[in-house]
Amino acid sequence: MQNDEIAKVFLEMADLLEIKGENPFKVRAYRRAAQIIDHLPDPIADRIARGEDLQEIPGIGEAIAKKSAELVATGKLAAYEDLKAQFPAGMIRLLEIQGIGPKTAHRLATELGIDSVAALEQALVDGRVAALPRMGEKTAQNILRQIQACKGQDRRIPIGEALPIVEEILAALSPLPGVRNLTAAGSLRRFRETVGDIDLMGTADDPGAVVAAFAGLPQIREVLARGPTKASVLLDKGLQVDLRMVEHQAFGSLLQHFTGSREHNIALRTRAQRQGLSLSEYGITRIDTNQLERFPDEEAFYRRLGLDWIPPEIREDQGEIDLAEAGGLPRLVEERDIRGDFHVHSDWSDGRSTLSELALAARARGYEYLAVTDHSVGLGIAHGLNAERLAGQRQAIEKINARGIGVRLLAGVEVDIRADGTLDLPEGLLAGLDIVIGSVHSSLQQDESRMTARLIRAVENPHVDIIAHPTGRLIGRREPAAVDIGRLIRAAADHGKALEINAMPDRLDMKDLHARRAHEQGALLALGTDAHHADQLGLMRFGIGVARRAWCTPGHLLNGRSLAEVLAFLQHR
Ligand SMILES: [Zn+2]
Ligand SMILES: [Zn+2]
Repeated sequence: MQNDEIAKVFLEMADLLEIKGENPFKVRAYRRAAQIIDHLPDPIADRIARGEDLQEIPGIGEAIAKKSAELVATGKLAAYEDLKAQFPAGMIRLLEIQGIGPKTAHRLATELGIDSVAALEQALVDGRVAALPRMGEKTAQNILRQIQACKGQDRRIPIGEALPIVEEILAALSPLPGVRNLTAAGSLRRFRETVGDIDLMGTADDPGAVVAAFAGLPQIREVLARGPTKASVLLDKGLQVDLRMVEHQAFGSLLQHFTGSREHNIALRTRAQRQGLSLSEYGITRIDTNQLERFPDEEAFYRRLGLDWIPPEIREDQGEIDLAEAGGLPRLVEERDIRGDFHVHSDWSDGRSTLSELALAARARGYEYLAVTDHSVGLGIAHGLNAERLAGQRQAIEKINARGIGVRLLAGVEVDIRADGTLDLPEGLLAGLDIVIGSVHSSLQQDESRMTARLIRAVENPHVDIIAHPTGRLIGRREPAAVDIGRLIRAAADHGKALEINAMPDRLDMKDLHARRAHEQGALLALGTDAHHADQLGLMRFGIGVARRAWCTPGHLLNGRSLAEVLAFLQHR
């Protein structure tokens, strides 16, 4: 059993215990355990296999340790099954919908007899939910919106889930003899935030051997189709993966064709027709002679059309083809341009790495600076920092900086923006920090005018430098808050504040379209991983992916600046 599955069991137990009216401390212990387990850097099962005592993990007590061991050993938990049996069937499914807490789920099940998501949707549409006492039309509509959002995402999975799966497959096949060019195409290569079916392709001296190895991978649940040079398979999570192998000489057009996007390829094809050329996955054909030219790589393919090579992330027919023709494509930001991270949590709040561990991990990535931005106290979660502890952390940071390890830690905070736009820590305190990022974590259901005014008030606050995850969305799980992005961008540009691209794969907030608008209208962007563990500094690549989709050059990002330039930007405080 994987950590996330174990965490899910404990989370559901917490919900059910809460409905039963159990001791709140017990409920909280289960929630906390779920959070800790979900964020562990390595599988619980491995720890058990190594004979480690799970109680050595902070926050895991004897009861949770035993139950985790039972889950790993048997895939089941007796206490959980007993608990579930005490509730109406189907109620537990309702808890997975954002906006439905334990109490609401219980009421829907007992008062309306709702036992499935489909039944709930029906009751929402015909007004029975809204008619419940203390429920109301607004809540009902919110729930309906969440259900519909989840349904639309059904066949697509977040890139943060897909990329590691694909990299595992590529790593297994790449070492085979005579294999070259093995890569993912499609929306994964273009770094869309969610991906559907996955297309893999490459070239090999012996394509049959690669296809056979692919079809025999342990991750694969079912082989849907298989030929001498291609195969389609289904993975455990229902993800379909297609592999195509071609000759080395024909790889460029294949990769180009299957990378898309559809819109980009249509525009390219229309343009090629005017040149008397026809495009396909096999190459470029001269229409007058019907002669096929083949291309070993994409550069040669685009060159034949009179174009510079176009980075996959911007192949969306949004002006990239004209610029490629004129030699004017922007130099998109790359991993090597990133000189630091502006959003990181340590074990002073709910992170799991020490300040030193974070500093060393940042140095290993070649960073010049790292902003430590633990949560402020008002969030009510996980040791938010009050004035006293913030001062203590500041001293600890100064000590590390004094050791001169080559990375400058910036003393910061992720301060909660309250429902009215005021901040959750005293201004005098914020003024003494190196950097402040502000974000909304509650009252996300506010209407657009209130939410926008709230964020703009924070932008106008002289102590705030960056607005983190501006819409609060969680991909596939929570819709973005209603924010007038245009007004937020204008306010940020006017006040010289940065807007974050949060690199957590389930956030990616701001998203690509908004981020492009932001820098086009003169607002600065800042990448932050929101790492809660030193290992998660590596999530930066997801932020870079969004930034590239947003046409960002290094100059559009605060992270592209040197330490001295960043300190100059922060000078006003
Ligand atoms: Zn946050
Ligand atoms: Zn955060």
